[in-house]
Formats: sequence, C-alpha cells, structure tokens
Amino acid sequence: MLEVEGLSVNYGAIRALRQVTFSIAKGEIVALIGANGAGKSTILNTISGIVPAAAGKINFLGKDLTKTPPHRIVELGICQVPEGRRVFARMSVQENLEMGAYTRTDSREVSRDLDAIYQRFPRLGERRKQPARTLSGGEQQMLAMGRALMARPKLLLLDEPSMGLAPMLVETIFGIIQEISKEGTTILLVEQNANMALGIADRGYVLETGEVVVQGPAAELAANPEVRKAYLGE
Ligand code: ATP
Repeated sequence: MLEVEGLSVNYGAIRALRQVTFSIAKGEIVALIGANGAGKSTILNTISGIVPAAAGKINFLGKDLTKTPPHRIVELGICQVPEGRRVFARMSVQENLEMGAYTRTDSREVSRDLDAIYQRFPRLGERRKQPARTLSGGEQQMLAMGRALMARPKLLLLDEPSMGLAPMLVETIFGIIQEISKEGTTILLVEQNANMALGIADRGYVLETGEVVVQGPAAELAANPEVRKAYLGE
C-alpha cells in the first residue's frame, strides 16, 4: 500500500532523515520505534505532505506523495493523528468529529459513522457538546482518533498515542488500535513505548538518528537483545 524509498529530509542544516526505506502492506500494523529525535514524527509529517522531502519517493497506491499537497493526501485516504492530539480546543467534541469528515459528501453515511464513533468511545458521546479543551488527555486522544476515523482513511498514521497517558488508558487505546486494524484500516504506528507497539504490530522498524537500523517481524524485534537493551528497558 505504501512504499517509502530513500527518503531524506532536512530542516536547514539538520539532517532529520537519511535514506529511509520501508513499506506497509494493506491490513498491516507497522511500528516505527526509536528514541526522542530519531525522526519518527518527521516520517509521518512527510507522508502527510506537511514537511517536504529533500530526496526519495513515497508511493501510496501508485501515486508519488512527495509531489502531492496535504489536502489531496487526505483525499487519497491517509489521515494523521498528530503527536499531542491537536484537537480544536474551543470546538465541541461533535464539531471536532465533523471536521474529520470535511472531505465527505455522503451525509447519511457521515452521521452513521458519527454514531459508530460514539459507540466505540462512549465517553465522547457523553461529552459531545463540551468544548474539546475540557476533556482529559485520554479523552482527547480518543477524540483525535475519532476525528481521523471520520475521514474513513485507508491508512491511519498514529503519532505517539500513548504519550502522557496512565498505563491503564494506554492499554485501552492500544486495544482500540487493534480493533480499528481488524476492521480493515492499515496502520503506521509511531511509539516511544516500544513494548506496547511491538505487542500489537505485525512488523517494525527501529530508527536511530534518521536511519533505519533494524527491521523485521514485531516478535523478532521484541526478542532481539540489542533492541531489548536500547528500547525495552533491559
Ligand atoms: P519525538 O519523539 O521527540 O517527536 P522523533 O523521533 O519523532 O522524536 P523528530 O521529531 O522527527 O523525531 O525529529 C528528528 C530531528 O529533527 C530531531 O533532531 C529534531 O530536533 C529535528 N526537528 C524536528 N522538527 C524540526 C523543525 N521543525 N525544525 C528543526 N528541526 C526539527
């Protein structure tokens, strides 16, 4: 579904990504793990078209995204849940969810999807009229995920969904990610919580200072002594 080949990104003199190559097949959960500043968010932001590529290709269903503007990338079926959620703070929960569907014209299906989101996230249903800023961190994460799902993405990009959440909530969020995957959405998951990410992913890539240093099936990475030492706290 997505093939990234030789992707390099610079911020001025900072070389954030160097020749990054990876792929995601339809239906997979692929995890990108690595320390702070390794370049994980930069990969997602480049796929979304927010950050320009200096070199390389990003092929999504036969189209090169490096030459495609962000709004077109959303229309093609890629949605990002950004780091730190970035919900629209003053808008209500429901308005945030409706914003997620802004490219859609099938209003009956949109309202059906809205009901489905409220079923999946009952807390959002209870708070549908509240401004998003009044939600807890976990609820805002659910809202950001719900907003992305309202676009019916083919590929969902999740940037650090566990950040700042209590362990029990992290379990809940990861359970929901698995459900979304089972329903047919392909997922690229960026996480510092390597343990949790490799627990639900099919495959993973480890990034270090802008380069892919190890890759493989998630179970293999989780068993790799170097990965365990560097990223799983051993
Ligand atoms: P984090 O978990 O902290 O988000 P990350 O692995 O996602 O880490 P990136 O945010 O992609 O890493 O950052 C990769 C490198 O690029 C880092 O050295 C970072 O300081 C730098 N960087 C990221 N965004 C910018 C920017 N807008 N301007 C300049 N440098 C940046």
